[in-house]
Amino acid sequence: MGKKEIKEFLLNNKGYLKWGKHKLANKFNVSSEKITEVVFEINHNPQNFKRLFFDIETSYNIGKFWRTGWNQTITPSQLIKERAVICISYKWEKDDKVYNLTWDKNQDDKKLLAEFTKILETADEVIAHNGDRFDIKWLRTRCLIHRLPFPTYVKSLDTLKKVKSMFNFQSNKLDYIASVLGFGHKVPTGGMELWDKIILEKDDKALDKMVNYCNHDVVLLQDVFGAIQSYIKPNTNVALHKGGKNYDCPSCGGSKVTYKKSVITTKGTIQRQMECKECTNDYIISNTIFSKYLKNKDA
Ligand SMILES: [Zn+2]
Repeated sequence: MGKKEIKEFLLNNKGYLKWGKHKLANKFNVSSEKITEVVFEINHNPQNFKRLFFDIETSYNIGKFWRTGWNQTITPSQLIKERAVICISYKWEKDDKVYNLTWDKNQDDKKLLAEFTKILETADEVIAHNGDRFDIKWLRTRCLIHRLPFPTYVKSLDTLKKVKSMFNFQSNKLDYIASVLGFGHKVPTGGMELWDKIILEKDDKALDKMVNYCNHDVVLLQDVFGAIQSYIKPNTNVALHKGGKNYDCPSCGGSKVTYKKSVITTKGTIQRQMECKECTNDYIISNTIFSKYLKNKDA
């Protein structure tokens, strides 16, 4: 029995998964290594590509200074209270609900960080606006200060990086892009006053307001990503993630794809430009992969 058949059998008869690899290897007359591979694929469930959208809000530092004025240097020794993460809103691509976490009553973000890191680790790709330079680095730094683990490798797609490199928007701020694409504006925060109420007065209503604002940002973020997705280069090959073919659409994972045209590099390498009929994304594959496409297309 081939790997594919064993996988199909086990998926339809999940009770057998409890058997253990040696017993299963005997049953199917294959090596236990092969069983390990199949069981890994089943548990890893590549059919589900999990994309996580998130946004964080942070508090300001509190410090001491002798005077106000222009062009002053503030050194770390002037800090009284270190900034922290106030809240994180997050949303799974295929789930309508927006979830959120907030710091605790003592304005300690340790529990929030521990919880969110676990969630982040279960995602196949995380998306945040300026996530690579801001959100992810912020989270990693706070985790280190608390001596909490945080992944070295975060598979991310930063929508700010994408809009900067692929478009010419008049502003690369999420609020502007969301509004010009017809998704509406961000919820106004009311500025510094909201932070003051949360940080200095521990006002729960103000915190709710911030959570609400942060939640809405995540919805806009997903809207913007959805709109630009078929115009940008993906950071993850979704097709392969879902167990598809390497000539399927890397952006949405769709298999309804067609040949568009050939591209020949200056070095004489032939590449094939493909188009996805499901999301309109175009992408380039090598000639070798293209021959596989042709073979399977005719079969
Ligand atoms: Zn597609």
